Amino acid sequence: MRTLIRNARVIDGTGAQPREQCALLIEAGRLVHVGPMSKEAEPAGNDVRVVDVAGRTVMPGMVEGHIHLSYNNVKAIADLDLNCPPEYSTIVSAKNAELALHCGYTAARSAGSVHAVDAALKRAIEEGLIPGPRLLAAGRDICATGGMADWNPTYLKLGMEGLALIADGPDAVRAAARRVIKDGADVVKCYIGGDALLPHTPIGDCTYTQAEVDALVDEAHMRGRLVAAHVRGERSSEVAALAGVDSLEHATYANQATLERIRDQGLTLVPGLRYLYSIIENGPGFGITEQTISDSGLREEIAQAADTYRRARELGIRMCPGGDFGFAWNPHGEYAKDIQVFVDVIGFSPLEAITCATRSGAELMRMADRIGTLEPGKHADLLVLDGDPLKDIRLLQDRTRISVMKAGEFVTRRFE
Ligand SMILES: [Zn+2]
Repeated sequence: MRTLIRNARVIDGTGAQPREQCALLIEAGRLVHVGPMSKEAEPAGNDVRVVDVAGRTVMPGMVEGHIHLSYNNVKAIADLDLNCPPEYSTIVSAKNAELALHCGYTAARSAGSVHAVDAALKRAIEEGLIPGPRLLAAGRDICATGGMADWNPTYLKLGMEGLALIADGPDAVRAAARRVIKDGADVVKCYIGGDALLPHTPIGDCTYTQAEVDALVDEAHMRGRLVAAHVRGERSSEVAALAGVDSLEHATYANQATLERIRDQGLTLVPGLRYLYSIIENGPGFGITEQTISDSGLREEIAQAADTYRRARELGIRMCPGGDFGFAWNPHGEYAKDIQVFVDVIGFSPLEAITCATRSGAELMRMADRIGTLEPGKHADLLVLDGDPLKDIRLLQDRTRISVMKAGEFVTRRFE
């Protein structure tokens, strides 16, 4: 059975302007033609299912560049690890994977999950057991003693391996990378920097030495895995870029030399900026006090972030949306708010922001040969939109107006 989508306005994800009156032919889950409607482009026959989208916009499925499937819209830090039995976290993650897919995200890169449930989830999705995006798993994070994810007090003597493996020194960090790879990680996620809301590791902290991160990157790359590094401050961003991690998550205070290094080495920047706005907008409703927000340096960080990311854009650094969703104040399902930030704050045009969320996301996942653009040979992972995202990028936040196709089959269909 082949599928012919006709009468489509195509945003193909390459950055090209939209094309009107297009036909897309799909065979065995892959695109075989994308272009103007014509006799040749529109075969007839009993084996062709025709879908007339009546001038609607068709674009590639989106990529969420920084997803935490196991985060159950948490309100407190203990909800990220202590309160997470593996069985329950697996169910939570499966529901979030389905939600992400229904929101138009046909691919996602994990940025860490408790008990490595994302690796099991990836397998279940690939086997067709459950619906979800094409996934790169990260499993547990790697973090130094006293680093950002090592937030449980020493006196509890937990010894748990919930969200993070605690490793110190190049050899132990290398061993931890081996362990997460053994547990199924495609992406080795490490914490080098701090965070505004965690007083034990403020924004400016750098919790790993250059030698430790070098060892981690060397091991991951030797095994063909990607490295994602949580960094915020100037020094942690510098260490990550010098080590050649594949992506820097946040890097709010990266200086100009680090930004130039990111560009020169072809690394990716995942700002995750929506998360910071969400704390300020919604945090007070969940017990984050005004005092905490002003003491944390969050407002200063947001001001700096806008400047850093605008400079990153001007330098031509590859940037992908991915917004750390999974907190009560920044819940799953609102992923495309991070794309809006690319337009409203960082200065991308809506078309450029869509390219960041599609083609650049595919590049981040090292899957650009299979997904991210609507071109012959790629998976038929696409969205049919009721409206024009170039006129209003917020359209991508309304899943009632997004029909989702993955591998040539509609997962949701919102039009007749
Ligand atoms: Zn994160």
